[in-house]
Amino acid sequence: MADFSQLPIRDDLRGLTPYGAPQNTVRVALNVNENTHPIPEDVARDIVESIAGAILTVNRYPDREFTELRESLARYLNEETPDAQLGADHIWAANGSNEVLQQILQAFGGPGRTVLGFPPTYSMHSIISAGTGTQWIAGERDEQYTLTPETVTRWIEQTDPDLVFLCSPNNPTGTPLSLETIEAAYAASRGIVVVDEAYAEFAPSELPTAVSLLEGRERLIVSRTMSKAFAFAGARVGYLAADPAVSDALRLVRLPYHLSALTQAAAVAALRHAPEMLAMVGDIREQRDRLIVELEKLGYAPLPSWSNFVLFGGVDDPNAVFEALLEQDILIRDVGIPNHLRVTAGTAAETTVFLEALARL
Ligand SMILES: *Cc1c(COP(=O)(O)O)cnc(C)c1O
Repeated sequence: MADFSQLPIRDDLRGLTPYGAPQNTVRVALNVNENTHPIPEDVARDIVESIAGAILTVNRYPDREFTELRESLARYLNEETPDAQLGADHIWAANGSNEVLQQILQAFGGPGRTVLGFPPTYSMHSIISAGTGTQWIAGERDEQYTLTPETVTRWIEQTDPDLVFLCSPNNPTGTPLSLETIEAAYAASRGIVVVDEAYAEFAPSELPTAVSLLEGRERLIVSRTMSKAFAFAGARVGYLAADPAVSDALRLVRLPYHLSALTQAAAVAALRHAPEMLAMVGDIREQRDRLIVELEKLGYAPLPSWSNFVLFGGVDDPNAVFEALLEQDILIRDVGIPNHLRVTAGTAAETTVFLEALARL
């Protein structure tokens, strides 16, 4: 077998490495911020029934406009942000929010264009940029990985990007992002501003999200996913809310029928049960807060988190700790930040197993 660099591959892909969180089968998997609670059995049955219905017409292409799914997602977001008054035309969906982000870059980025992000942040933002030939510009964060309105404004003024990627709360640090910073980024830029809200449901529920900023901002896109809070990672459903013109632009680059009839049926059924699907979010927040308290007691330096994971510093040898936990069948994440590791808040039992193992090291 040849090395891929021997193939006539695009020059700008030479030397890159693919996304690669390990997929070991372990007892306690706390490495990719999944919701580790399985979905309720009666909900699972209803989803299966819907898929069974959809498969009877799978000889035909699915609804290319996934209208029922967009209506369901609009209803879901309107529950959370009633003032947004979103309709199906404000919503777009794809096979995971990663595909949504890719379509955004295909339409608004590409060769000769730039996207500004603020590492350490979600690694796929720069990887999808590379895949679409969009030049990634790495901005810098403030103290403790925060991002002030002044800092984003300065970076946007200095680099004049075609797109700005913000992550709220940020992965892998868990850091909240204020609406003021998002407003400042929008005001300072001429381009598309994407707020990746993959973990929005884990933030304090009384606070508004970037969805509340959409009105009157046609270059603002809020991306969401059913992979995390919704416990639907394996189904691959991500979506965005934005001005309807954004969906019109994405129709130019999406593949026809990109959301299968089975995916659409499964997601619509899951959204019918949104309260049950999200029932464990409160529990996960509790485990996250417990992780922060207990990691501190163990002498580590956990960062504040509004997500379902905790990044903690004070780790002398992250690789050694990672390996020692893996030996006990516990998988967490070394995200490449010196002296830090990231752990997902799992069930109470999983969190206990992790904390006890760490305490023994
Ligand atoms: C997990 C994650 C996603 C989710 O990607 P999907 O493709 O929807 O599974 C998106 N953004 C961030 C920041 C994430 O951490």
